[in-house]
Amino acid sequence: MGMPRIDSAPDTSGDREAADAAEQVLAGLDEQQRAAALAVQGPVCILAGAGTGKTRTITHRIAYGVHTGVYVPEQVLAVTFTARAAGELRGRLSALGVGGVQARTFHAAAMRQLRYFAPRVLGGPMPELIENKLRVVAAAASRARLSTDRTSLRDLASEIEWAKTTLATPEDYPSRAKAAGREAPFEAAAVAEVYRSYESAKQRDGALDFEDLLLVTAYALEEHRDVAREVRGQYRHFVVDEYQDVNPLQQRLLDAWLGGRADVCVVGDPNQTIYSFTGADPDHLLGFADRYPDAEVVKLERDYRSTPQVVGLANKLIGQAPPRRGLPGLRLLGQRRDGAEPRFVEHPDEPSEAAAVARACRELVDGGLPASEIAVLFRINAQSQVYESALTDVGVPYVLKGGERFFERPEVREALLLLRGAAAGGSEPGALVPTVRDVLASTGWVEHRPPAGGAARDRWQSLAALVDLAVDLVAEEPTLDLPGFVAHLAERASAQHAPTVQGVTLASMHAAKGLEWDAVFVVGLVDGVLPIAQSLGRPDAVEEERRLLYVAVTRAREQLTLSWSLARNPGGRRSRPRSRFLDGLAPDAAAPLTRRSAKRPKVVLDGEAGERFERLRAWRSSTAQAASVPAYVVFTDATLQAIAEARPASLRELSGLPGIGSRKLELYGDGVLATLAG
Ligand code: ATP
Ligand code: MG
Repeated sequence: MGMPRIDSAPDTSGDREAADAAEQVLAGLDEQQRAAALAVQGPVCILAGAGTGKTRTITHRIAYGVHTGVYVPEQVLAVTFTARAAGELRGRLSALGVGGVQARTFHAAAMRQLRYFAPRVLGGPMPELIENKLRVVAAAASRARLSTDRTSLRDLASEIEWAKTTLATPEDYPSRAKAAGREAPFEAAAVAEVYRSYESAKQRDGALDFEDLLLVTAYALEEHRDVAREVRGQYRHFVVDEYQDVNPLQQRLLDAWLGGRADVCVVGDPNQTIYSFTGADPDHLLGFADRYPDAEVVKLERDYRSTPQVVGLANKLIGQAPPRRGLPGLRLLGQRRDGAEPRFVEHPDEPSEAAAVARACRELVDGGLPASEIAVLFRINAQSQVYESALTDVGVPYVLKGGERFFERPEVREALLLLRGAAAGGSEPGALVPTVRDVLASTGWVEHRPPAGGAARDRWQSLAALVDLAVDLVAEEPTLDLPGFVAHLAERASAQHAPTVQGVTLASMHAAKGLEWDAVFVVGLVDGVLPIAQSLGRPDAVEEERRLLYVAVTRAREQLTLSWSLARNPGGRRSRPRSRFLDGLAPDAAAPLTRRSAKRPKVVLDGEAGERFERLRAWRSSTAQAASVPAYVVFTDATLQAIAEARPASLRELSGLPGIGSRKLELYGDGVLATLAG
C-alpha cells in the first residue's frame, strides 16, 4: 500500500572524503615521519633534533588517526609544556581539519580533571590554588627561625618545587639534594624543615599548589577505581611533545592516565633539555624504548626549518658539548636553500645593542617582512625592557612572549562584552570592520595612536589585534556580520587560540621552545648571562645553558644574528667577555653592526689626554646621577674623547667639537671647562 519506499544506497561520499583527507595528511610527511604517523596505536618514540618535524609529525599522526576513524577526536589527549605550545598544537590540528582533540599543558589537563573529581577524591569543591609560593614559604621559613631575604626565599621555593617535581618528600630531601648537587641557600636539614612546615600549612588551609595539582590528580587515578575507569575511558590515545623535559611528577601522572596501556607517542630532543634544574629528566625519553620494547622508534635528521647556514651553526654549537652517555648523535641535515651566514655582532653597551637590533627590525619590516616573523630572544626576562623601549623608539610593534592568554586579558574581555552587546542590537551587513572600530573606540581606543611603552601599549595592541582579525576574516568571508564575528571570537576564546598579534616577539629563550620565526636575534650573549652566573662552576648547569643557546639559534628559519655588549651601561667599563659558547663559532673579532659604531673610534688615550678623559668621565657620572639620567645622555664616550683630546679653553672652542649642540653647551659647558681646568 502506501508510498513506494526508496531505499537509499549507503552514502559513501563521507568515507571517501575522510580517506582522501587521510592520504593528504600523509603526503605532507617524509618517509620516516610517515612511519611514525602510520603507527597510530603506539607506542611510538620520536627522538630527533630541532626543526626536523617532530611537532608536525604528531599533529599529522593525530589527524591521520582521526581521518581513518581509528581515533575518536575527544579521546585523544596531547600534552605539552607551555600554554603557547598547546595553542600551537591546537592551531596546527585545526589547520588539518581536526577538532575536538584535547591539546593542553599537563597542568591544564590535570586541573580540568581534578575540578570534576574534587568532590569525590577531596570530599569538597576544588580547593584554592596557591599561584605564588613565596608568602607561604616565608611563613614556613620564619617558623623554622631562618632569616631570609627575597633571593633566599625564592631559592627556598625553588628547592621545594624541585623536591615535589622529583617526588622527594621532606625526609628524602637531604640525601636527594646531595646526590643531585643542589645548591640551596640553607643547610639541607633546614630546607627540609621549611618544606615540611610549608606542606602542613598548606594542608591546614586546604589549599593546593601547582605541583599538588598533578600529584593529587595522579593519586586520584591510582587510588580511586571509579575515577580511573572514567578518565581512562575518556582518554585512550596520548601524545607528549617536548618529552625531553618531562619531570618525574608529570611522568607519574602520564603513567596514571595510561594505567598500563601503551597507546602513547612521545617526541623530543635530548639536546633541547632545558629544565633539568627544575627536575626534568631526559632519561624518560632516552629510556622509552627500554620500557616499551615493541615501540616504533623513529629518528629524524632532516631539518626543514632552517637554512643550511643556521643548521651548520647549530650542529657546531652542540658538537662542542661533551658527549653524553646514551645520547645518540643528532646531527641535523639542512633541507632548505642556502641563506645568509649567521651574524655575530659586538656592541659597546646594552642600549646600543638594543638600538641596533631595533633598527635591524625596522629595516626588515620596511623590507616587507611581517613583524610577527621576527623574534628577539634573551636569557632573562629583565633583559626585555631595553628592547621594548628601543623598538618603541623606532616605531616597531612588539609583543612580550607572544599572544599568550589573549582572551584572558581584561581589555579583551571588556571588548568582547561590548561587541556582544552591539551584536545583540542587530547589525549592518558589510560593515563589520568599521563597526568593530566604533565599538572599540567607545573604550577610548584610538586606532592610529598607539601609546608609547608599557601596559597602555599592550592594551592598545590587544584591541588592534581584534580589528586586524576582523579585517582578515572579512577578506575571507565578505558577508561576515557582527554576530558572526562575535560567534567566531567566542569559538576562538574557548579554544584559547589568540589571533596573531602583529609584532616582534620578545621572549626568553625558555619561552621560545618549539616556536619558529624567519628572523631571530639572540641577544645579550655575555658570560655571566649565558651561561648564567649561577651555573658557573657546575659543569652540568653550564651544559644546560649551552642547550638553551641551541634552542634559541634553532628557532631561526632564515636570518640569525647573535650579539652581546661589552658594558652594561653606556660609559661603563667594557669588560664583559662574550659568551664562551661562541668560541669556535664566531670570528675572533666580531663586526660591529652599525655604521655609526663602526666609525666610532676605540677609546685609546694615553698620557695626559687619558687622565683628562678619566676626569671627564667622573664628572659625567656625577652629573648624570644628579640629573637621574643615563650617562650617555650627558655625553657619549666619543664626545668625551674628543674633548679630552682637543682640550678646549672656552665655551666657543667647546662648541666646535662633535656632539656639542647649543643645549648641551648651555647645560654642561661650564662643568666641562671647570673639570678640564681643575
Ligand atoms: P623543535 O624541536 O624545535 O620543536 P620540531 O622537530 O618540532 O622542532 P616542527 O616545528 O614540527 O619541528 O617543524 C619545523 C618546520 O619544518 C615547520 O615549519 C614544519 O612545518 C616544517 N616541516 C617539517 N617536516 C616537513 C616536511 N616533511 N615537509 C615540509 N615541511 C616540513
Ligand atoms: Mg616541536
